[in-house]
Amino acid sequence: MATENIALITLFGAAGDLAHRKLYPSLFKLYQKGYLADHFALLGTSRREKSDEEFQALVADSIKDIKETKAGEAAAFAKHFFYQAHDVTKPEHYDVLKDRLAELDQQFVTKGNRLFYMSVAPQFFGVIAMNIKKQGLLTDEGYNRLIMEKPFGRDFASAKELNDELSQTFEENQIFRIDHYLGKEMVQNIQALRFGNTIIESLWNNRYIDNIQVTLSEKLGVEERAGYYDNSGALRDMVQNHIMQVVAQLAMEQPVSFTDSDVRVEKIKALRSLRVYTPSEAASNFVRGQYDAGADTPAYRDADGVPADSATETFVAAKLLFDNYRWSGVPFYVRTGKKLADKFTRIDVVFKKPLIDIFANPRMTSDQSLKSNVLTIYVEPESGFALRVNAKSTGQGFKTEPVDLKFLQSAAEKKEAPEPYERLFHDALEGNHTNFASWAEIAYSWKFVDVVRKLWDIEEPQFPNYAPGSMGPAASDELLARDGRAWIYKLNK
Ligand code: NAD
Repeated sequence: MATENIALITLFGAAGDLAHRKLYPSLFKLYQKGYLADHFALLGTSRREKSDEEFQALVADSIKDIKETKAGEAAAFAKHFFYQAHDVTKPEHYDVLKDRLAELDQQFVTKGNRLFYMSVAPQFFGVIAMNIKKQGLLTDEGYNRLIMEKPFGRDFASAKELNDELSQTFEENQIFRIDHYLGKEMVQNIQALRFGNTIIESLWNNRYIDNIQVTLSEKLGVEERAGYYDNSGALRDMVQNHIMQVVAQLAMEQPVSFTDSDVRVEKIKALRSLRVYTPSEAASNFVRGQYDAGADTPAYRDADGVPADSATETFVAAKLLFDNYRWSGVPFYVRTGKKLADKFTRIDVVFKKPLIDIFANPRMTSDQSLKSNVLTIYVEPESGFALRVNAKSTGQGFKTEPVDLKFLQSAAEKKEAPEPYERLFHDALEGNHTNFASWAEIAYSWKFVDVVRKLWDIEEPQFPNYAPGSMGPAASDELLARDGRAWIYKLNK
């Protein structure tokens, strides 16, 4: 049985794309499941004037494709939504919000539980947090929580400045920084796989693991986000946040318990032991790329809104090293990019081969020898995992071949699985930080990424350097080949 959460949500950016595509549908799913019921209301704000009824119609439109489980459910849900035109930069506008929140609190008996969601451009995060406090929007009665979207800063210095601003109003345990990768089923499953299975966790170290590979591959280009993306690039947009969060889960030690505070301690410790490169180490351990034109697609530099001489990277591959007892000597290879062969996210954990191949004989070709065991975690579009083991090939004689022990979620299970935003909204309503990034994690990952960014900002890249539909520039393969390794996921050419 779902427990009803009691909350008054203030949403900044209520007319935005994210709110329409993700936030209202996620709240509706929570409503359908009973996690939100009578005692919740949402006050949406953005600049343009709108009546409550117009806003309710906008919310109803955003959920029109979700099947109702009870007649009239969507209409009843929309009645919990209210609207206030508001400019986040004008302190006096917060007075009106304060009064409306007090009314809604009474009307829906939300007991002073306030959740502020910032779904606006990041330059407004600081000013909103400051005004929430200054203009008296916080309550003493229930909880005060802040959910915020990415990006969290452009580098360590700006992230710290933002964090200092936020912490004038909110304590760390009141801030929920969204990283939607942490809401994905199989990213959350990393911990179940590791800490729920002796056969996995007992091998999870440099004695048995040769290397770990993380691939976040996108098929699309920049589409209509060119303005934002060209200012950001793959390093800031994907590596600093999503990739670092996935890597932290793979690298962390077992937490004392599965509570948010214990998990955080271990993720922070893992990121602290990530080796921060010198500029010359960064130059040899990082690869950047930008896509060229393909048969039916323009080059990145020819996309609408992208300068013709843009030096922004649409691809990054890197080798990460942890200086700790568990991981010393085990490289984590990561890569992400746009206009790649396919849209998928996967993790490949490559184990060391047996020290001696007793099945080897002089008549064997090298591709008949024992292969590395590989644990693949399929994050998306499929959810599941596979363990590649060596087995005897059926038939006369004695040859081995790799076979996959595979579990994939069924279509029915996938349909049941909540979307990342639904899970994360639910966690924030429950006050659970497990799947949100803490300030310390963000700080360590910016410090790591800043060295690379600074280097790339002064060195002219040789762009474009990869074809759409490939898996990135040749240098990405060379990064592993140099160590005598190769990406497990390859294009079937
Ligand atoms: P958007 O541009 O579609 O919407 C921004 C909203 O902010 C609008 O409602 C607008 O009216 C409001 N706004 C702008 N200036 C304002 C002001 N001065 N006062 C009050 N309101 C103002 O943006 P979006 O795509 O919905 O993104 C919102 C946030 O979510 C951003 O931080 C973005 O980085 C993040 N994000 C978006 C996506 C996505 O898929 N859209 C994905 C990840 C993160």
